[in-house]
Amino acid sequence: MNELPSKPLPLQDHETRHHGAFDPNYERHFRAVSQPIYQTSLFAFRDFDDMANAYAGNPGGPIYARGDNPTVMAFEREIARLENTQASRAFASGMGAISATVMALVEPGDRIVTVHNVYSDAYRLFETMLRPMGVAIDYVDGTKTDAVIDAISGAKLLFLESPTSLTFELQDLENLAQAAKQKNVITVIDNSWATPVFQRPAEHGIDLVIHAASKFLSGHSDTVAGVVTGRKDLINKINGSTFPYLGGKLGPFEAWLLLRGLDTLELRMQRHAQTGEYLAASLTQHPKVSQVLYTGFSDHCGKRTLHGHSSLFSIILDKTVDIRNFSNALRTFRLGVSWGGPESLVVPAAAVLHQKYEISAFRHFQLDPQLVRIYCGLENPSDLLADLEQAIGAGVTS
Ligand SMILES: *Cc1c(COP(=O)(O)O)cnc(C)c1O
Repeated sequence: MNELPSKPLPLQDHETRHHGAFDPNYERHFRAVSQPIYQTSLFAFRDFDDMANAYAGNPGGPIYARGDNPTVMAFEREIARLENTQASRAFASGMGAISATVMALVEPGDRIVTVHNVYSDAYRLFETMLRPMGVAIDYVDGTKTDAVIDAISGAKLLFLESPTSLTFELQDLENLAQAAKQKNVITVIDNSWATPVFQRPAEHGIDLVIHAASKFLSGHSDTVAGVVTGRKDLINKINGSTFPYLGGKLGPFEAWLLLRGLDTLELRMQRHAQTGEYLAASLTQHPKVSQVLYTGFSDHCGKRTLHGHSSLFSIILDKTVDIRNFSNALRTFRLGVSWGGPESLVVPAAAVLHQKYEISAFRHFQLDPQLVRIYCGLENPSDLLADLEQAIGAGVTS
């Protein structure tokens, strides 16, 4: 309980980041320290043979930016470096990355296994698009490693999210990856919560790692983007199907914003971790908080692969706290669903999200009505705690 986040993973190899080894175009870019934004849709050929060669399968560079763009390629290389993977592909959103990945790898008749409380729009993708196309989806309690291993026999793909981003259950990445490999099941994880600063799933055998780059990677609440990184053969499958033909590519300006965000990722994550730990620990002492769903307090073995805890967690408020009055009393925290930027956010999850969760199979989202998700941004930690305390006070009914 209550232990400080362990040391973040060593991240930045600034030498390769800023010199030719990282950026093959370094000299051509006048040794600019910030990546140029290639705001272009197409790249012309030198002559007929150059063009004929490109279409014979030796492109020698980007052709048209629905495929590759140099600024986006710089972001893709950087993600592969941070996650220690072979290749990446960026997308216009986190859901773009999730849908393109899953749809490139499964076909009608296949089965996906995923976890209870998986990200809600991933769930909706599975239920509203994939199930009607003849893909089976099974939901299992991701904390129960043996149950997951049983469930993946004969499945095509295991889709993980450790921790889940509303109720924060962990999964045992090492053992699940190993079992999946033996059973020939592809493993995919949504690693948006941890970022490569706190968890690098590919180093534990996970095949593909997805980020909603809109969150911590961007870090400034100004970009919607996604990325998948991992095994080259699987990225090639995505590159040969869903990426070009569904067309969800990332724009060069967004890629540039993401590269800028990545420059401060490690620094921001350390601050988020400190603030999250401070708030979570303080809230466990609060008489009107009945539970704090914070990974730092978990004793699940999925914690082994975490090198720190980010600042997104949930609390369950006592029944005497009115969620509407609590929400309306917040001053520093704002009400909003995303996270990863500088501003702290609260989602009165069950109270407002439940109305949307109507698909009958959505029984996995039977949230406690008093559950509130907390995201700690970069403000002063004491101000944040004081704000929550006064809002809880204002919400007490009698
Ligand atoms: C936001 C989010 C996504 C989706 O990302 P978008 O960029 O909004 O499409 C996926 N997974 C998690 C955990 C998220 O929080």
